[in-house]
Amino acid sequence: MCIICVDLTKDKLTSMEARNNLKEMSSEIAEDHKLELLNLIWKKEDEEFHKEYDQALLEQNYDHPSNDGDDWFWGEDWMFNSGSD
Ligand SMILES: [Zn+2]
Repeated sequence: MCIICVDLTKDKLTSMEARNNLKEMSSEIAEDHKLELLNLIWKKEDEEFHKEYDQALLEQNYDHPSNDGDDWFWGEDWMFNSGSD
């Protein structure tokens, strides 16, 4: 357990923030813990995705094609929220 896990578990971080933190703290986190942390992040992303999906369904405007894989998340996500803090 590290600060990222703790904050993620307490809902203080979004999956994106956790990924940013993971990137920044990468050298301080044990290799085998990174995988644990990634698992938490994936779980979080899943929750966030379902939350958004449910919300969009409620608003009846969900028109994104479902074949948008989420593979792009890992490599590119931090470029989208850089400068937002
Ligand atoms: Zn941790």
